[in-house]
Amino acid sequence: MTDRTATPPLRAVRIAAKCPICEKPGIVQFRPFCSKRCANVDLGRWLKEGYRVATDEAPSEDGGDGAEPGSTRQTG
Ligand SMILES: [Zn+2]
Repeated sequence: MTDRTATPPLRAVRIAAKCPICEKPGIVQFRPFCSKRCANVDLGRWLKEGYRVATDEAPSEDGGDGAEPGSTRQTG
């Protein structure tokens, strides 16, 4: 008894991935981007962000209370 409902082959419904840069329909070759140029743009952004994270910045260094360097303070 082969009453098995043959499931129809799922149609390859490819969701047209929009280019995150210019929102144009992406190309398989450069997906999800529409062109190599847009891909590069995105890559550049990533690199920029990477640099930011890489930078080892010191926000605060020895909480100086308005003490200007150079002016000797006399205490006593
Ligand atoms: Zn694009």
